Amino acid sequence: IDNPRFEKIYFDLTDPTSVNHVVKKYQPEYFINFAAQSFVGASWDIPVATWNCTATGVLHILEAIRTESPGTKFYNAGSSEEFGDVEYSPQDEKHPLRPRSPYGAAKAAARHIVKVYRDSYNLFAVQGWLFNHEGTRRGEEFVTRKITKSVALIKKALDENRIPPPIHLGNLESKRDWGDAQDFVRAVWLMMQQEKPIDYVVASGETHSIREFVEASLISADIPFDVVENTNFFTGDQPALAYTLKDDPETPLVYVNPKYFRPAEVQLLLGDSTRIEKELGWTPDVSFEKLVDNMTQHDILALSNKL
Ligand code: GDP
Repeated sequence: IDNPRFEKIYFDLTDPTSVNHVVKKYQPEYFINFAAQSFVGASWDIPVATWNCTATGVLHILEAIRTESPGTKFYNAGSSEEFGDVEYSPQDEKHPLRPRSPYGAAKAAARHIVKVYRDSYNLFAVQGWLFNHEGTRRGEEFVTRKITKSVALIKKALDENRIPPPIHLGNLESKRDWGDAQDFVRAVWLMMQQEKPIDYVVASGETHSIREFVEASLISADIPFDVVENTNFFTGDQPALAYTLKDDPETPLVYVNPKYFRPAEVQLLLGDSTRIEKELGWTPDVSFEKLVDNMTQHDILALSNKL
């Protein structure tokens, strides 16, 4: 933020006049839109706000670029949530859009309008289908960061001989294709450097369950655990114990809590990024294990004030 080439300005995607003003004033070479109400879980609670920002906001940008700065190259963050109720795995660029949440539906709408503007007005407008991308700046409302921050708290409590605060999670069996945010930003940049705007799937190409993420994070923190078997595909209405400290059934570590179940769930996401690998030479550097380890170790250090 202290870089002299960085300027922070006020505008709001839901306010078309402000978007227009900014595009007109700056005539930007690139307009990269990562803004959204991006938390799937909250999109059932605030569907209209989600739509206004995530779908209509994109139309405001397109209109501003079309009328004020047609040479601007536009990137809009597309999402694997557009695939939703998946038909086949892994999902590639040809997979139909079958969203399962107000967020996914808004992202799918944005994808259509970006394509319509690209075709109608010959704009450089491109959008990846970015699968889940994570890192040490991920918000705690997302399951990965919620887990790594909670595991750090458990570790600190155990180190100090206190009773550890257990984690309450929702569906442990859904699977996600988790990649590293820094790898994915490289892919976005490559997409912006193409001669013609072509949309690509960006994914790690591996899928893991929430359960696997929990276990990898506990392993990274060196916390031994036992699995309580009967929570597999749990559908009860009260919290159920899923993990305890090893050989210590009286010390709960993880509960499945129905409070975190979603009205509709995307059970499995797994991306096929062969096309961007072949055509733009992009490959991810960070593996699943490395990603979980980076995030967990970061949160452990942050909690002991070493960061
Ligand atoms: P999403 O893929 O963009 O929805 O990313 P999230 O990190 O919010 O959720 C990923 C998956 O984790 C979904 O299948 C959720 O149902 C599941 N999940 C299980 N427990 C939790 C939880 O406590 N919080 C969140 N956010 N997701 C959870």
